[in-house]
Amino acid sequence: MPRPENLFTRDDWTADRALTCDVLVIGSGAGGAVVAAELAEGGLEVIVLEEGGYHPTEEFTTHATAMVRKLYRDGGATLAIGSPPIAFQEGRAVGGSTVINGGMSWRTPERILDRWWREDGVDGVRAKEMGRYFERVEKYISAKHQDPGTTSRDNELLREGAEKMSWKVIPNIRNQLHCAGTNNCAFGCPTGAKRSTLVTYIPRALAFGARLYADCRVERLLREGTRSVGAEGRVIQPNGKPGHRFTVRAKLVVSSAGAIHTPALLGRSGVKSPSGRIGQNLSLHPNVKVLAVFDENVEGWKGVHQAYQVREFQEEGYLFAAVNIPPSILSMATPFYGRELDEIMRDYNRTVIAGMLLEDSVTGRVRVLPGGRPQAFYDLSDFDAHRLVRGTSLLCELLFSAGARRIVLPFEGMADLRGPDDVRKLFERPVHKPGIEVMTVHMMGTCAMGGDPKRHVCDSYGKVYGHEGLYISDASLFPSPIGVNPMETIMALATRNAERILDQGAALKAA
Ligand SMILES: Cc1cc2nc3c(=O)[nH]c(=O)nc-3n(C[C@H](O)[C@H](O)[C@H](O)COP(=O)(O)OP(=O)(O)OC[C@H]3O[C@@H](n4cnc5c(N)ncnc54)[C@H](O)[C@@H]3O)c2cc1C
Ligand code: SF4
Repeated sequence: MPRPENLFTRDDWTADRALTCDVLVIGSGAGGAVVAAELAEGGLEVIVLEEGGYHPTEEFTTHATAMVRKLYRDGGATLAIGSPPIAFQEGRAVGGSTVINGGMSWRTPERILDRWWREDGVDGVRAKEMGRYFERVEKYISAKHQDPGTTSRDNELLREGAEKMSWKVIPNIRNQLHCAGTNNCAFGCPTGAKRSTLVTYIPRALAFGARLYADCRVERLLREGTRSVGAEGRVIQPNGKPGHRFTVRAKLVVSSAGAIHTPALLGRSGVKSPSGRIGQNLSLHPNVKVLAVFDENVEGWKGVHQAYQVREFQEEGYLFAAVNIPPSILSMATPFYGRELDEIMRDYNRTVIAGMLLEDSVTGRVRVLPGGRPQAFYDLSDFDAHRLVRGTSLLCELLFSAGARRIVLPFEGMADLRGPDDVRKLFERPVHKPGIEVMTVHMMGTCAMGGDPKRHVCDSYGKVYGHEGLYISDASLFPSPIGVNPMETIMALATRNAERILDQGAALKAA
Protein backbone atom coordinates (compact mmCIF):
# COMPACT_ATOMS: atom_id res chain seq x y z
CA MET A 1 0.00 0.00 0.00
CA PRO A 2 1.62 3.35 -1.01
CA ARG A 3 2.26 5.67 1.92
CA PRO A 4 2.09 9.46 2.01
CA GLU A 5 5.41 11.27 1.80
CA ASN A 6 6.67 12.18 5.31
CA LEU A 7 4.88 9.23 6.92
CA PHE A 8 7.23 6.51 8.09
CA THR A 9 6.58 3.09 9.60
CA ARG A 10 8.74 0.40 11.19
CA ASP A 11 9.68 -0.76 7.68
CA ASP A 12 11.75 2.40 7.29
CA TRP A 13 14.01 1.67 10.28
CA THR A 14 17.28 -0.17 9.70
CA ALA A 15 19.21 1.14 12.73
CA ASP A 16 18.83 3.27 15.87
CA ARG A 17 18.31 6.92 14.95
CA ALA A 18 18.43 10.44 16.40
CA LEU A 19 16.10 13.10 14.98
CA THR A 20 15.60 16.82 15.63
CA CYS A 21 12.73 19.26 15.14
CA ASP A 22 11.16 22.42 16.56
CA VAL A 23 8.15 20.68 18.11
CA LEU A 24 7.69 17.01 18.97
CA VAL A 25 4.06 15.85 19.25
CA ILE A 26 3.46 12.51 20.98
CA GLY A 27 0.24 10.83 19.75
CA SER A 28 -1.78 11.46 16.59
CA GLY A 29 -5.41 11.35 17.78
CA ALA A 30 -7.92 14.14 18.37
CA GLY A 31 -5.40 16.32 20.21
CA GLY A 32 -2.09 15.39 18.58
CA ALA A 33 -3.09 15.52 14.91
CA VAL A 34 -4.74 18.91 15.32
CA VAL A 35 -1.85 20.49 17.18
CA ALA A 36 0.62 19.04 14.65
CA ALA A 37 -1.29 20.38 11.63
CA GLU A 38 -1.75 23.83 13.15
CA LEU A 39 1.92 24.13 14.13
CA ALA A 40 3.18 22.81 10.80
CA GLU A 41 0.93 25.23 8.94
CA GLY A 42 2.33 27.96 11.19
CA GLY A 43 5.81 27.24 9.88
CA LEU A 44 7.30 25.10 12.64
CA GLU A 45 9.21 21.90 11.94
CA VAL A 46 7.06 19.19 13.53
CA ILE A 47 7.64 15.51 14.24
CA VAL A 48 4.74 13.29 15.37
CA LEU A 49 5.51 10.00 17.11
CA GLU A 50 2.67 7.49 17.19
CA GLU A 51 2.79 4.12 18.90
CA GLY A 52 0.08 2.60 16.70
CA GLY A 53 0.38 1.48 13.09
CA TYR A 54 -0.56 3.26 9.89
CA HIS A 55 -3.79 1.75 8.53
CA PRO A 56 -5.26 3.58 5.56
CA THR A 57 -8.97 3.45 4.72
CA GLU A 58 -8.42 0.60 2.23
CA GLU A 59 -7.45 -1.71 5.12
CA PHE A 60 -10.76 -1.30 6.99
CA THR A 61 -13.17 -4.23 6.72
CA THR A 62 -16.33 -5.42 8.49
CA HIS A 63 -14.34 -8.17 10.22
CA ALA A 64 -14.97 -6.57 13.62
CA THR A 65 -12.71 -8.70 15.80
CA ALA A 66 -9.78 -8.43 13.35
CA MET A 67 -10.20 -4.64 13.25
CA VAL A 68 -10.31 -4.49 17.06
CA ARG A 69 -6.99 -6.34 17.22
CA LYS A 70 -5.50 -3.95 14.68
CA LEU A 71 -6.86 -0.60 15.86
CA TYR A 72 -7.61 -0.89 19.59
CA ARG A 73 -5.08 -0.81 22.40
CA ASP A 74 -4.72 -4.26 23.94
CA GLY A 75 -7.45 -5.59 21.66
CA GLY A 76 -10.00 -3.41 23.47
CA ALA A 77 -9.50 -5.32 26.73
CA THR A 78 -8.59 -2.47 29.07
CA LEU A 79 -10.11 -2.09 32.51
CA ALA A 80 -10.30 0.56 35.24
CA ILE A 81 -9.99 -1.29 38.54
CA GLY A 82 -12.67 -0.48 41.11
CA SER A 83 -16.24 -1.15 42.09
CA PRO A 84 -17.56 -2.02 39.59
CA PRO A 85 -14.61 -2.62 37.25
CA ILE A 86 -15.12 -0.43 34.18
CA ALA A 87 -14.08 -1.66 30.73
CA PHE A 88 -12.73 1.12 28.54
CA GLN A 89 -11.45 1.32 24.98
CA GLU A 90 -8.80 3.48 23.31
CA GLY A 91 -7.52 3.62 19.77
CA ARG A 92 -3.90 2.85 19.01
CA ALA A 93 -3.25 3.74 15.41
CA VAL A 94 -2.33 6.73 13.28
CA GLY A 95 -5.39 8.89 13.98
CA GLY A 96 -5.78 7.57 17.54
CA SER A 97 -9.28 7.00 18.86
CA THR A 98 -10.78 9.15 16.08
CA VAL A 99 -10.27 6.17 13.73
CA ILE A 100 -12.60 3.99 15.81
CA ASN A 101 -14.98 6.51 17.29
CA GLY A 102 -18.63 7.07 16.46
CA GLY A 103 -18.08 10.48 14.92
CA MET A 104 -20.37 12.46 17.23
CA SER A 105 -19.14 16.05 16.98
CA TRP A 106 -20.49 18.37 19.61
CA ARG A 107 -19.26 21.66 21.01
CA THR A 108 -18.66 21.77 24.76
CA PRO A 109 -21.90 22.78 26.51
CA GLU A 110 -21.84 26.44 27.54
CA ARG A 111 -22.52 25.61 31.20
CA ILE A 112 -19.34 23.48 31.26
CA LEU A 113 -17.19 26.19 29.68
CA ASP A 114 -18.62 28.66 32.21
CA ARG A 115 -17.78 26.24 35.03
CA TRP A 116 -14.18 25.86 33.79
CA TRP A 117 -13.83 29.65 33.66
CA ARG A 118 -15.54 30.29 37.01
CA GLU A 119 -14.39 27.37 39.17
CA ASP A 120 -11.06 26.45 37.56
CA GLY A 121 -9.94 29.88 36.40
CA VAL A 122 -9.40 28.73 32.79
CA ASP A 123 -8.68 31.82 30.74
CA GLY A 124 -10.46 32.62 27.45
CA VAL A 125 -12.60 29.48 27.49
CA ARG A 126 -16.14 30.83 27.48
CA ALA A 127 -18.43 30.10 24.53
CA LYS A 128 -17.92 33.46 22.84
CA GLU A 129 -14.12 33.00 23.00
CA MET A 130 -14.15 29.35 21.92
CA GLY A 131 -16.55 29.89 19.00
CA ARG A 132 -13.89 30.52 16.37
CA TYR A 133 -11.92 27.40 17.40
CA PHE A 134 -15.02 25.22 17.15
CA GLU A 135 -15.82 26.71 13.74
CA ARG A 136 -12.32 25.99 12.46
CA VAL A 137 -12.44 22.37 13.66
CA GLU A 138 -15.96 21.83 12.27
CA LYS A 139 -14.77 23.04 8.87
CA TYR A 140 -11.81 20.65 8.77
CA ILE A 141 -13.70 17.59 10.05
CA SER A 142 -16.94 18.32 8.13
CA ALA A 143 -19.19 18.27 11.21
CA LYS A 144 -22.68 17.95 9.74
CA HIS A 145 -26.04 16.23 9.97
CA GLN A 146 -26.37 12.91 8.13
CA ASP A 147 -27.63 12.77 4.56
CA PRO A 148 -31.28 11.57 4.42
CA GLY A 149 -31.77 7.82 4.12
CA THR A 150 -28.65 6.81 6.06
CA THR A 151 -30.17 6.18 9.49
CA SER A 152 -31.15 2.77 10.78
CA ARG A 153 -34.48 1.53 12.11
CA ASP A 154 -33.10 1.13 15.67
CA ASN A 155 -32.39 4.85 15.70
CA GLU A 156 -35.81 5.69 14.30
CA LEU A 157 -37.37 3.58 17.08
CA LEU A 158 -35.36 5.54 19.66
CA ARG A 159 -36.58 8.80 18.12
CA GLU A 160 -40.20 7.57 17.94
CA GLY A 161 -40.06 6.46 21.58
CA ALA A 162 -38.72 9.84 22.69
CA GLU A 163 -41.35 11.67 20.67
CA LYS A 164 -44.13 9.54 22.19
CA MET A 165 -42.83 10.54 25.63
CA SER A 166 -42.59 14.19 24.42
CA TRP A 167 -38.89 14.17 25.24
CA LYS A 168 -36.29 16.26 23.46
CA VAL A 169 -34.48 14.24 20.80
CA ILE A 170 -32.04 15.70 18.27
CA PRO A 171 -30.23 14.41 15.18
CA ASN A 172 -26.55 13.98 15.87
CA ILE A 173 -23.92 16.10 14.21
CA ARG A 174 -21.12 13.85 12.97
CA ASN A 175 -17.76 14.42 11.32
CA GLN A 176 -18.74 12.89 8.00
CA LEU A 177 -19.03 13.68 4.31
CA HIS A 178 -21.88 11.75 2.67
CA CYS A 179 -21.66 8.86 5.15
CA ALA A 180 -23.25 5.83 3.53
CA GLY A 181 -24.53 4.38 6.80
CA THR A 182 -22.46 1.19 6.67
CA ASN A 183 -22.35 1.14 10.50
CA ASN A 184 -18.67 0.25 10.71
CA CYS A 185 -17.45 3.44 12.43
CA ALA A 186 -16.02 1.64 15.46
CA PHE A 187 -13.90 -0.63 13.25
CA GLY A 188 -12.52 1.93 10.78
CA CYS A 189 -14.71 3.68 8.21
CA PRO A 190 -14.32 1.66 4.98
CA THR A 191 -15.58 4.51 2.76
CA GLY A 192 -13.49 7.33 4.23
CA ALA A 193 -16.72 9.25 4.89
CA LYS A 194 -15.93 9.60 8.60
CA ARG A 195 -13.52 12.48 8.79
CA SER A 196 -11.19 11.11 11.46
CA THR A 197 -7.80 12.76 11.86
CA LEU A 198 -6.38 9.94 9.68
CA VAL A 199 -8.06 11.54 6.65
CA THR A 200 -8.15 15.20 7.72
CA TYR A 201 -5.62 16.73 10.08
CA ILE A 202 -2.86 14.18 9.48
CA PRO A 203 -2.74 14.69 5.70
CA ARG A 204 -2.86 18.43 6.40
CA ALA A 205 0.06 18.20 8.84
CA LEU A 206 2.06 16.13 6.34
CA ALA A 207 1.26 18.55 3.52
CA PHE A 208 2.74 21.36 5.63
CA GLY A 209 5.92 19.37 6.12
CA ALA A 210 5.36 17.56 9.41
CA ARG A 211 6.96 14.10 9.64
CA LEU A 212 4.97 11.29 11.25
CA TYR A 213 6.63 8.14 12.57
CA ALA A 214 4.12 5.33 13.17
CA ASP A 215 4.96 2.24 15.28
CA CYS A 216 7.09 4.43 17.60
CA ARG A 217 6.37 4.15 21.32
CA VAL A 218 7.74 6.97 23.45
CA GLU A 219 9.14 5.60 26.69
CA ARG A 220 10.17 8.82 28.40
CA LEU A 221 10.75 12.50 27.91
CA LEU A 222 14.30 13.83 27.67
CA ARG A 223 14.79 16.53 30.27
CA GLU A 224 17.43 19.05 31.24
CA GLY A 225 16.43 20.17 34.73
CA THR A 226 12.86 21.37 34.48
CA ARG A 227 13.00 21.77 30.69
CA SER A 228 11.76 19.06 28.30
CA VAL A 229 14.09 18.75 25.32
CA GLY A 230 12.67 15.75 23.47
CA ALA A 231 11.82 12.12 24.00
CA GLU A 232 13.20 8.63 23.56
CA GLY A 233 11.64 5.30 22.87
CA ARG A 234 11.54 2.17 20.74
CA VAL A 235 10.14 1.16 17.39
CA ILE A 236 7.51 -1.55 17.91
CA GLN A 237 8.11 -4.72 15.93
CA PRO A 238 5.26 -6.73 14.34
CA ASN A 239 5.33 -9.12 17.33
CA GLY A 240 4.83 -6.19 19.73
CA LYS A 241 8.39 -6.36 21.07
CA PRO A 242 10.62 -3.25 21.18
CA GLY A 243 13.03 -2.85 18.28
CA HIS A 244 15.33 -0.01 17.21
CA ARG A 245 15.84 2.90 19.60
CA PHE A 246 15.13 6.50 18.73
CA THR A 247 15.73 9.86 20.31
CA VAL A 248 14.07 13.05 19.13
CA ARG A 249 15.46 16.36 20.33
CA ALA A 250 13.00 19.24 20.18
CA LYS A 251 12.65 22.81 21.40
CA LEU A 252 9.18 22.05 22.64
CA VAL A 253 7.28 18.84 23.40
CA VAL A 254 3.49 18.37 23.25
CA SER A 255 2.09 15.24 24.87
CA SER A 256 -1.14 14.12 23.15
CA ALA A 257 -1.06 10.47 24.21
CA GLY A 258 -4.58 10.61 25.70
CA ALA A 259 -5.91 10.78 29.25
CA ILE A 260 -4.46 7.41 30.29
CA HIS A 261 -1.03 7.60 28.63
CA THR A 262 -0.11 11.27 29.02
CA PRO A 263 -0.02 11.13 32.83
CA ALA A 264 1.84 7.81 32.59
CA LEU A 265 4.45 9.34 30.28
CA LEU A 266 4.93 12.27 32.64
CA GLY A 267 5.18 9.89 35.57
CA ARG A 268 7.73 7.63 33.83
CA SER A 269 9.77 10.72 32.97
CA GLY A 270 9.92 12.00 36.53
CA VAL A 271 7.87 15.13 35.81
CA LYS A 272 6.39 16.40 39.05
CA SER A 273 3.58 18.93 39.31
CA PRO A 274 3.42 21.54 42.10
CA SER A 275 -0.23 20.42 42.37
CA GLY A 276 0.70 16.76 42.93
CA ARG A 277 -2.26 15.97 40.62
CA ILE A 278 -0.73 14.31 37.57
CA GLY A 279 -2.98 11.30 36.92
CA GLN A 280 -5.69 12.45 39.38
CA ASN A 281 -9.14 13.75 38.37
CA LEU A 282 -9.97 10.89 35.96
CA SER A 283 -13.54 11.27 34.64
CA LEU A 284 -15.11 8.48 32.60
CA HIS A 285 -18.69 9.26 31.53
CA PRO A 286 -19.82 5.82 32.80
CA ASN A 287 -21.98 4.09 30.21
CA VAL A 288 -24.58 1.32 30.52
CA LYS A 289 -26.42 -0.50 27.76
CA VAL A 290 -29.73 -2.35 27.48
CA LEU A 291 -30.89 -4.81 24.82
CA ALA A 292 -34.50 -4.16 23.79
CA VAL A 293 -36.16 -6.87 21.72
CA PHE A 294 -38.98 -5.80 19.37
CA ASP A 295 -41.50 -7.83 17.35
CA GLU A 296 -40.54 -6.13 14.10
CA ASN A 297 -37.44 -6.72 12.03
CA VAL A 298 -35.20 -3.84 13.16
CA GLU A 299 -31.96 -4.75 11.37
CA GLY A 300 -30.09 -2.06 13.30
CA TRP A 301 -26.94 -2.65 11.28
CA LYS A 302 -28.53 -1.08 8.18
CA GLY A 303 -27.63 2.56 8.76
CA VAL A 304 -25.37 4.78 10.82
CA HIS A 305 -25.38 4.23 14.57
CA GLN A 306 -26.25 6.99 17.05
CA ALA A 307 -28.17 9.01 14.48
CA TYR A 308 -30.04 10.69 17.34
CA GLN A 309 -29.41 11.70 20.92
CA VAL A 310 -32.14 12.02 23.54
CA ARG A 311 -31.32 15.28 25.31
CA GLU A 312 -34.34 15.57 27.61
CA PHE A 313 -32.25 14.82 30.72
CA GLN A 314 -28.99 16.51 29.75
CA GLU A 315 -29.14 18.90 32.70
CA GLU A 316 -29.31 15.85 35.01
CA GLY A 317 -26.27 14.44 33.20
CA TYR A 318 -27.95 11.69 31.10
CA LEU A 319 -27.74 11.18 27.32
CA PHE A 320 -29.39 8.27 25.48
CA ALA A 321 -28.53 6.84 22.04
CA ALA A 322 -28.94 3.65 20.00
CA VAL A 323 -25.68 1.89 19.22
CA ASN A 324 -25.77 -1.20 17.05
CA ILE A 325 -22.99 -3.67 17.90
CA PRO A 326 -21.97 -6.53 15.55
CA PRO A 327 -23.07 -10.02 16.67
CA SER A 328 -19.49 -11.22 17.23
CA ILE A 329 -18.92 -8.50 19.85
CA LEU A 330 -22.44 -8.56 21.31
CA SER A 331 -22.32 -12.28 21.96
CA MET A 332 -19.28 -11.75 24.20
CA ALA A 333 -20.92 -8.84 26.03
CA THR A 334 -24.26 -10.40 27.03
CA PRO A 335 -24.70 -11.99 30.46
CA PHE A 336 -25.99 -15.22 28.85
CA TYR A 337 -24.68 -18.61 27.83
CA GLY A 338 -26.12 -21.82 26.40
CA ARG A 339 -29.78 -21.77 25.36
CA GLU A 340 -30.37 -18.20 26.61
CA LEU A 341 -27.46 -16.90 24.54
CA ASP A 342 -28.78 -18.80 21.53
CA GLU A 343 -32.21 -17.24 22.06
CA ILE A 344 -30.99 -13.65 22.38
CA MET A 345 -28.69 -13.99 19.36
CA ARG A 346 -31.55 -15.42 17.28
CA ASP A 347 -33.38 -12.18 18.12
CA TYR A 348 -30.39 -10.09 16.96
CA ASN A 349 -32.23 -8.59 13.99
CA ARG A 350 -35.15 -7.59 16.22
CA THR A 351 -32.96 -5.97 18.88
CA VAL A 352 -32.24 -2.32 19.63
CA ILE A 353 -29.07 -1.80 21.66
CA ALA A 354 -29.45 1.48 23.50
CA GLY A 355 -26.98 3.15 25.79
CA MET A 356 -26.85 5.85 28.40
CA LEU A 357 -23.93 8.17 29.09
CA LEU A 358 -23.62 9.67 32.57
CA GLU A 359 -21.83 12.90 33.43
CA ASP A 360 -20.03 11.54 36.49
CA SER A 361 -19.78 13.27 39.86
CA VAL A 362 -16.60 11.62 41.18
CA THR A 363 -13.15 10.99 39.78
CA GLY A 364 -10.58 8.21 39.69
CA ARG A 365 -6.88 8.22 38.93
CA VAL A 366 -4.17 6.79 36.70
CA ARG A 367 -1.02 5.31 38.26
CA VAL A 368 2.16 4.06 36.68
CA LEU A 369 2.82 0.41 37.51
CA PRO A 370 6.33 -0.95 37.99
CA GLY A 371 7.55 -1.47 34.42
CA GLY A 372 5.93 1.76 33.26
CA ARG A 373 2.43 0.73 32.16
CA PRO A 374 -0.48 2.88 33.31
CA GLN A 375 -3.36 1.50 35.36
CA ALA A 376 -6.66 3.34 35.86
CA PHE A 377 -8.56 3.14 39.15
CA TYR A 378 -12.15 4.32 39.49
CA ASP A 379 -14.89 3.71 42.06
CA LEU A 380 -18.41 4.59 41.00
CA SER A 381 -20.08 6.66 43.73
CA ASP A 382 -23.35 5.50 45.32
CA PHE A 383 -24.93 8.65 43.96
CA ASP A 384 -23.86 7.86 40.39
CA ALA A 385 -24.90 4.20 40.78
CA HIS A 386 -28.40 5.44 41.65
CA ARG A 387 -28.31 7.79 38.68
CA LEU A 388 -27.39 4.89 36.39
CA VAL A 389 -30.45 3.01 37.66
CA ARG A 390 -32.71 6.04 37.27
CA GLY A 391 -31.34 6.81 33.80
CA THR A 392 -31.82 3.18 32.76
CA SER A 393 -35.42 3.26 34.00
CA LEU A 394 -36.10 6.30 31.81
CA LEU A 395 -34.45 4.64 28.82
CA CYS A 396 -36.58 1.51 29.38
CA GLU A 397 -39.76 3.64 29.52
CA LEU A 398 -38.76 5.14 26.17
CA LEU A 399 -38.07 1.75 24.60
CA PHE A 400 -41.34 0.25 25.81
CA SER A 401 -43.21 3.25 24.44
CA ALA A 402 -41.49 2.52 21.09
CA GLY A 403 -42.82 -1.06 21.20
CA ALA A 404 -40.14 -3.16 22.93
CA ARG A 405 -41.42 -6.47 24.35
CA ARG A 406 -38.36 -7.51 26.36
CA ILE A 407 -35.45 -5.55 27.83
CA VAL A 408 -32.22 -7.13 29.07
CA LEU A 409 -30.68 -5.01 31.82
CA PRO A 410 -27.05 -4.23 32.72
CA PHE A 411 -27.69 -5.15 36.37
CA GLU A 412 -26.47 -8.58 37.48
CA GLY A 413 -29.21 -10.82 38.86
CA MET A 414 -32.11 -8.66 37.68
CA ALA A 415 -34.72 -10.39 35.57
CA ASP A 416 -35.48 -8.99 32.11
CA LEU A 417 -38.31 -6.47 31.93
CA ARG A 418 -41.34 -7.62 29.92
CA GLY A 419 -43.42 -4.44 29.81
CA PRO A 420 -43.70 -0.85 31.09
CA ASP A 421 -45.17 -1.97 34.42
CA ASP A 422 -41.95 -3.87 35.13
CA VAL A 423 -39.84 -0.69 35.09
CA ARG A 424 -40.66 0.03 38.74
CA LYS A 425 -38.88 -3.27 39.64
CA LEU A 426 -35.62 -1.43 39.05
CA PHE A 427 -36.24 0.44 42.30
CA GLU A 428 -37.48 -2.52 44.37
CA ARG A 429 -34.04 -3.65 45.54
CA PRO A 430 -30.95 -1.80 46.74
CA VAL A 431 -28.51 -0.96 43.98
CA HIS A 432 -25.77 -3.59 43.93
CA LYS A 433 -22.87 -1.50 42.64
CA PRO A 434 -20.38 -4.31 41.87
CA GLY A 435 -23.05 -5.95 39.69
CA ILE A 436 -23.53 -3.04 37.26
CA GLU A 437 -22.00 -3.63 33.83
CA VAL A 438 -20.32 -0.33 33.08
CA MET A 439 -18.09 0.59 30.18
CA THR A 440 -16.74 3.80 28.69
CA VAL A 441 -14.89 5.30 25.75
CA HIS A 442 -14.49 8.80 27.22
CA MET A 443 -11.47 9.08 29.51
CA MET A 444 -10.71 12.67 30.55
CA GLY A 445 -9.15 15.04 33.03
CA THR A 446 -5.89 13.49 34.31
CA CYS A 447 -3.69 16.58 33.76
CA ALA A 448 -6.33 19.23 34.26
CA MET A 449 -5.85 22.80 33.07
CA GLY A 450 -6.71 25.79 35.20
CA GLY A 451 -5.51 28.97 36.77
CA ASP A 452 -3.99 27.60 39.98
CA PRO A 453 -0.64 25.73 39.90
CA LYS A 454 -1.54 24.21 43.28
CA ARG A 455 -4.76 22.64 41.90
CA HIS A 456 -4.07 22.20 38.22
CA VAL A 457 -1.36 20.44 36.23
CA CYS A 458 -1.47 22.76 33.18
CA ASP A 459 -2.18 26.41 32.64
CA SER A 460 -5.15 27.54 30.56
CA TYR A 461 -3.28 26.78 27.31
CA GLY A 462 -1.87 23.36 28.16
CA LYS A 463 1.60 24.40 29.39
CA VAL A 464 2.67 22.18 32.30
CA TYR A 465 3.16 24.27 35.44
CA GLY A 466 6.68 24.23 36.86
CA HIS A 467 8.22 23.04 33.57
CA GLU A 468 9.57 24.65 30.46
CA GLY A 469 9.04 23.36 26.94
CA LEU A 470 6.28 20.92 27.88
CA TYR A 471 2.63 21.20 26.77
CA ILE A 472 -0.35 18.84 26.89
CA SER A 473 -3.03 18.73 24.22
CA ASP A 474 -5.49 15.90 24.65
CA ALA A 475 -8.43 14.75 26.78
CA SER A 476 -6.26 14.98 29.92
CA LEU A 477 -6.81 18.74 29.97
CA PHE A 478 -10.51 18.71 30.94
CA PRO A 479 -11.00 20.07 34.47
CA SER A 480 -14.33 18.18 34.64
CA PRO A 481 -16.46 15.81 32.58
CA ILE A 482 -18.49 17.57 29.89
CA GLY A 483 -21.61 15.41 29.58
CA VAL A 484 -21.36 15.13 25.77
CA ASN A 485 -18.97 13.40 23.38
CA PRO A 486 -15.50 14.93 23.89
CA MET A 487 -13.71 14.82 20.49
CA GLU A 488 -14.61 18.30 19.29
CA THR A 489 -13.73 19.87 22.64
CA ILE A 490 -10.28 18.23 22.51
CA MET A 491 -9.76 19.45 18.94
CA ALA A 492 -10.88 23.01 19.70
CA LEU A 493 -8.60 23.20 22.76
CA ALA A 494 -5.72 21.80 20.66
CA THR A 495 -6.32 24.51 18.05
CA ARG A 496 -6.25 27.14 20.77
CA ASN A 497 -3.12 25.71 22.40
CA ALA A 498 -1.36 25.64 19.02
CA GLU A 499 -2.21 29.29 18.49
CA ARG A 500 -0.58 30.10 21.83
CA ILE A 501 2.53 28.07 20.91
CA LEU A 502 2.72 29.82 17.54
CA ASP A 503 2.80 33.17 19.36
CA GLN A 504 6.26 32.04 20.51
CA GLY A 505 7.05 30.63 17.04
CA ALA A 506 9.77 33.16 16.14
CA ALA A 507 11.48 32.66 19.50
CA LEU A 508 11.30 28.89 19.05
CA LYS A 509 12.79 29.10 15.56
CA ALA A 510 15.61 31.28 16.82
CA ALA A 511 16.37 29.11 19.86
C1 LIG B 1 -15.02 3.28 20.38
C2 LIG B 1 -14.98 4.77 20.65
C3 LIG B 1 -16.07 5.56 20.27
C4 LIG B 1 -16.05 6.93 20.53
N1 LIG B 1 -17.04 7.72 20.04
C5 LIG B 1 -16.93 9.09 20.13
C6 LIG B 1 -17.82 9.95 19.46
O1 LIG B 1 -18.71 9.51 18.73
N2 LIG B 1 -17.66 11.29 19.61
C7 LIG B 1 -16.68 11.82 20.41
O2 LIG B 1 -16.64 13.05 20.56
N3 LIG B 1 -15.81 11.02 21.04
C8 LIG B 1 -15.88 9.68 20.90
N4 LIG B 1 -14.95 8.88 21.46
C9 LIG B 1 -13.90 9.51 22.28
C10 LIG B 1 -12.87 10.25 21.46
O3 LIG B 1 -12.52 9.53 20.29
C11 LIG B 1 -11.64 10.48 22.34
O4 LIG B 1 -12.06 11.19 23.49
C12 LIG B 1 -10.55 11.26 21.67
O5 LIG B 1 -10.13 10.66 20.46
C13 LIG B 1 -9.36 11.39 22.63
O6 LIG B 1 -8.40 12.19 22.02
P1 LIG B 1 -6.93 12.19 22.58
O7 LIG B 1 -6.09 13.02 21.68
O8 LIG B 1 -6.97 12.49 24.02
O9 LIG B 1 -6.45 10.65 22.48
P2 LIG B 1 -6.49 9.62 21.28
O10 LIG B 1 -7.37 10.09 20.18
O11 LIG B 1 -6.83 8.30 21.89
O12 LIG B 1 -5.00 9.61 20.75
C14 LIG B 1 -3.91 9.24 21.56
C15 LIG B 1 -2.85 8.61 20.68
O13 LIG B 1 -1.63 8.58 21.40
C16 LIG B 1 -0.96 7.37 21.11
N5 LIG B 1 -0.01 7.09 22.21
C17 LIG B 1 -0.32 6.78 23.49
N6 LIG B 1 0.81 6.58 24.21
C18 LIG B 1 1.85 6.75 23.35
C19 LIG B 1 3.27 6.67 23.48
N7 LIG B 1 3.84 6.36 24.66
N8 LIG B 1 4.05 6.90 22.38
C20 LIG B 1 3.48 7.22 21.18
N9 LIG B 1 2.13 7.31 21.01
C21 LIG B 1 1.33 7.09 22.07
C22 LIG B 1 -2.07 6.35 21.01
O14 LIG B 1 -1.65 5.21 20.30
C23 LIG B 1 -3.16 7.16 20.31
O15 LIG B 1 -3.10 7.00 18.91
C24 LIG B 1 -14.94 7.51 21.23
C25 LIG B 1 -13.87 6.71 21.60
C26 LIG B 1 -13.86 5.36 21.31
C27 LIG B 1 -12.69 4.52 21.73
S1 SF4 C 1 -21.64 4.61 9.00
FE1 SF4 C 1 -20.77 6.21 7.74
S2 SF4 C 1 -19.04 7.03 8.91
FE2 SF4 C 1 -19.60 5.06 9.83
S3 SF4 C 1 -18.30 3.57 8.82
FE3 SF4 C 1 -20.17 3.65 7.58
S4 SF4 C 1 -19.81 5.21 5.99
FE4 SF4 C 1 -18.23 5.42 7.57
